[in-house]
Amino acid sequence: MAAVPGNRVAAATPGPQDSDPACRVSEPVRVEALAIRGQGGPAVVTFAPPPLLSCAMARTLADWLDRSLQPLARGHFERDLVALRVGGGHECRRRNRASTGPVSEHATGQALDIFAIKLRTGGDAVEVVVEKPQGLAQNRFLDAVRQSACGAFMTTLGPGSDAAHANHLHVDIQERRSRASRFCQ
Ligand SMILES: [Zn+2]
Repeated sequence: MAAVPGNRVAAATPGPQDSDPACRVSEPVRVEALAIRGQGGPAVVTFAPPPLLSCAMARTLADWLDRSLQPLARGHFERDLVALRVGGGHECRRRNRASTGPVSEHATGQALDIFAIKLRTGGDAVEVVVEKPQGLAQNRFLDAVRQSACGAFMTTLGPGSDAAHANHLHVDIQERRSRASRFCQ
């Protein structure tokens, strides 16, 4: 992935606190920026803060940004996608931070939480906040973003699905029990 111009992706080493085998990340990478095709030519989307992801998740994310999210940003606002405010890349923990139960998809670097999407035309930027979209246009944009995420990732959860996802969009590529079943809520 590092070979793609514009991508700022480096091999990463999870910390010693992540030595639990349940929290092993396959080919961990730190993702600072990913290349997209902008309106005026090659462009990049930066991540704040840069998440640690499995290489497979970083690839899926890169494809989704370029093929779906950027075209949606152009279609809805005539703006280029420039940044994502994110959380919950790799983190060795259980689902919804419970003390017992299944290990979170975040533990294996297969998941990302998106809190806000930043779009720009020239020097003028807007941030669409997942928890509080402003107005009908932003609401429609976020609905479309969620629909496209449902097609690109194995699981997509967001506001309205449950209390743990009220303020962000969770996407992950963890295989579910049935190979073909995607979970979209
Ligand atoms: Zn999450």
